[in-house]
Amino acid sequence: MSECLFCKFISGELNTHKVFENENVLAFKDIYPAAKTHILFIHKKHTENIVEICNTDIGQVTDIFSAMAEWTQQEGLDKSGFRIINNLGDHGGQTIFHTHFHVLGGEKLNPGLN
Ligand code: AMP
Ligand code: ZN
Repeated sequence: MSECLFCKFISGELNTHKVFENENVLAFKDIYPAAKTHILFIHKKHTENIVEICNTDIGQVTDIFSAMAEWTQQEGLDKSGFRIINNLGDHGGQTIFHTHFHVLGGEKLNPGLN
């Protein structure tokens, strides 16, 4: 059994607030939202970070971004705008080591990246 928190959401061993799911991708609410809308998009196949997912199967990145496009359009966020963030490793501030993309929106975000 995987020790990865996000894999436990995928397997159903732990519950999360899902907002989107298809064959390859799961999206759920971040437990500590940094904006009015704060969703995490993950692939159902475990990789640790964006470099590993690219080296393993770049198509998985397409799966995630296609899901983000579908869901943001469904919610109208493509009209109001949103931000995608990926953190990698210590300097990037990554705390969960299952590749994920943050989608932030639902309000005007602070400009800048840091
Ligand atoms: P990162 O720091 O980029 O690795 O992002 C990890 C994110 O996972 C953070 O924004 C956390 O708030 C979020 N997080 C941690 N635990 C949970 C949980 N149980 N359910 C949903 N999101 C979580
Ligand atoms: Zn995992």
